[in-house]
Amino acid sequence: MYINQHLCDVCGTCVSVCPVDAIEVFETQVVIDNDVCISCGKCAQVCPARAIGDAL
Ligand code: SF4
Ligand code: SF4
Repeated sequence: MYINQHLCDVCGTCVSVCPVDAIEVFETQVVIDNDVCISCGKCAQVCPARAIGDAL
């Protein structure tokens, strides 16, 4: 899964729903580690900015 950095406002909502802790919050951006991500789609469902998708 990928985060569109232009849409993401770094709210952190996606981080808490990830079952495998694949999402990391840095000071100015949120990043998904696709070596860990199992593509469950939960982060995309909860993102209020609709910034997460399965392709860039
Ligand atoms: S798709 Fe699922 S496993 Fe991948 S980052 Fe989002 S919540 Fe985590
Ligand atoms: S839920 Fe969406 S807007 Fe919030 S940090 Fe995650 S990707 Fe960014």
